[in-house]
Amino acid sequence: MRRFLGQPNSQVTQAVRTYGTLPNILETYGSLCFNFKTMKNYLDHKTFSEVANVFEKKKQFPQDLAEKFAAGAHTWALDNGVTHYTHVFQPLSGVLGEKHDVMFGADEAGKVKSELTAKQILSSEPDASSFPNGGLRQTNKARGNAIWDPQSHLTISRMGDASCLRIPSVFIGWTGEALDYKTPLLRSERALERATFRVLNLLGETGHYRVDASCGLEQEFFLIEEKLFNKRPDLVVCGRTLLGRDPSRGQDHSDRYFGWQSTKMQDAIFEMEQEFWKLGIKNNTRQREVAPGQYEMAPRFDYANQANDNNMVMMQVMREVAKRHGLACILHEKPFANLNGSGKHNNWSFGTNKDKSFFKPNSPFFMIATAAFTRGVSLHGGLLRASVATAGNDHRLGGHEAPPGIMSIYTGEDVEDMIERCSRGEDYTYINLTCKAHDFGVDYLPNFPREASDRNRTSPIAFCGNRFEFRATGSSVNTAWPTTILNTITTESLNYIADQLESAKSSVTPALVDKVLQKIFTEHKHAIYCGDNYSDDWKKEAASRGLINAVDTPAALPYVTSPESIKLFTSLGVLSESELRARSNVFYSNFNLDVGVELRCLLDMCTQHVIPSTYRQLSYIKDDVKGVEGHSKYVNEIKTHLGKLLEKVEQLNEVDKELSKLDSVERANVIKTKGRPAMKAIRVHADTLEGLVDAALWTLPSYQQMIHEGH
Ligand code: ADP
Ligand code: MG
Repeated sequence: MRRFLGQPNSQVTQAVRTYGTLPNILETYGSLCFNFKTMKNYLDHKTFSEVANVFEKKKQFPQDLAEKFAAGAHTWALDNGVTHYTHVFQPLSGVLGEKHDVMFGADEAGKVKSELTAKQILSSEPDASSFPNGGLRQTNKARGNAIWDPQSHLTISRMGDASCLRIPSVFIGWTGEALDYKTPLLRSERALERATFRVLNLLGETGHYRVDASCGLEQEFFLIEEKLFNKRPDLVVCGRTLLGRDPSRGQDHSDRYFGWQSTKMQDAIFEMEQEFWKLGIKNNTRQREVAPGQYEMAPRFDYANQANDNNMVMMQVMREVAKRHGLACILHEKPFANLNGSGKHNNWSFGTNKDKSFFKPNSPFFMIATAAFTRGVSLHGGLLRASVATAGNDHRLGGHEAPPGIMSIYTGEDVEDMIERCSRGEDYTYINLTCKAHDFGVDYLPNFPREASDRNRTSPIAFCGNRFEFRATGSSVNTAWPTTILNTITTESLNYIADQLESAKSSVTPALVDKVLQKIFTEHKHAIYCGDNYSDDWKKEAASRGLINAVDTPAALPYVTSPESIKLFTSLGVLSESELRARSNVFYSNFNLDVGVELRCLLDMCTQHVIPSTYRQLSYIKDDVKGVEGHSKYVNEIKTHLGKLLEKVEQLNEVDKELSKLDSVERANVIKTKGRPAMKAIRVHADTLEGLVDAALWTLPSYQQMIHEGH
């Protein structure tokens, strides 16, 4: 029987340290991931240490080592019943791309032989023309390559009886342009590494051989009964409801947050976790969120690249497992109006093999890293805002449930105090001002010191003691893009710091470093704000500080291709100008497609559901009901809203026609000025009618049913 050592709690004495049997479910932990633990069983000792070294030092795989690695991975895959392999890549459509090839061949006699060579692992060639490319590729120049990213582990996906070996990959065009989200992320990591090494070398630091950004991604989502989901064309097609009367009870009681989960939901979530664990995804937490039907899961942080790959797989697994339980997993940022939407908080830090997070206040590099990040946010706030701009996130940001579109940093009192002292040219040693013992008023409760800093739930970028939490990211997106921006804007400022240190006449002394930091904080601390970001006062204050407030996607996207952004990406080798412009085109097109589909879906729902239900209601109301006070008022109200609805439907049809004639940028702006307001106007009447029409005649599941049933 396998034994394991229980985690001793540091505050608890040795005497109660526990030993126990590993729950059966954990026997398969990591079994579908070719991580170092698995590799040890499939590679000989020498090969394993060479592979581990190549990985740790982020080197290229030598050919002979790649062959041995492939042989080991092949045996492992066969042991797990794998018949196919695929290069999984991350096209700009936002979901994973994968084409499954068989991992065996049959000769003329019908004898089957399975094979997986280093060449097969290295690359495959998906047709690039049908993925969004923003004009980078033409259909007649369609060649694209998916190429193995050895810094992310191979995994086995198992859907029903089918098993497939997944090879995490970048996706590039034949002429080398990045057609995906992973390539710029990896390039931004490279740039961050170079800039960090520049600074560390100037400081005379040794022993650092790799730099990594790390991410911990908190995934929020909704679960609803699949049978209800399937009856809502808007949820099926758009991922969010376009109509729906407020339920009599929404999230008002605040009793869902961290609340009890029904066995049904718990079972589904536990099965998701088990699938994650098999894949080596270290999911650590699960909880109910604020809105009814809303949940969150968060794995332990990992290297940004791996964490992001894991999140993309997690989203796929969650949808699949939910179905096994008769549920639908909704990852959209705003599935239900007037209920909290879902985000994917991106806990981000960077550091080296020696000092994993520079954002720990006791790290010798804390102030340098914080200055670089602050300057990055100050100079590129518009771009950072644009990195989370999607049609879905527009319904969430700024809505008193998520931070507004103004990018600012919350540091907490202690760090703010350090920064103030630094910008005054004083000693800025970290002092724990806020930490003191609590008095709970109950003698037997254990002593408990207060945390070093409070949390700020209103800031888009909150300091959490050893990382910054970028809270504006939407729940459904590939977070590689916002992480690329966090890395890149910080890199540029690390290079600025290195330039300043290099150009000084004196040698690099602590006093010189302090002088550079003093200048940065003085010039850029306007990007730091520790108050309530939800308040209107902050909007005014932010405007007076010159911070950008891009309220929605059409307002944010121009920052992607601003001259500052082009210079930033091209100078650091993260994206060429054409790659960047292509992304901007894709972002506009995704926005237009998302809202365009919503608009047409809403028109269909009105003509196929709301309007017929209302006519049916009218047809069964007798005109000559005598003695019922309020009867005609009731009938007139229905008729008035129906009339208005018909009128607004006509108007939205006109907007739809107008949109089809416009180019991408104009279309996004007309969606904003005419399309969305017209959709909102329809909703007012449709939702009022829902409250007036017999529930038995209403053909769409109500909010009440969707958010409360099964929970
Ligand atoms: P909360 O909801 O309180 O923010 P969670 O536990 O839901 O906390 O998520 C916090 C996330 O931050 C986890 O994924 C955690 O592993 C991650 N994290 C912790 N330390 C770091 C770090 N140094 N860098 C990046 N992420 C981190
Ligand atoms: Mg959380």
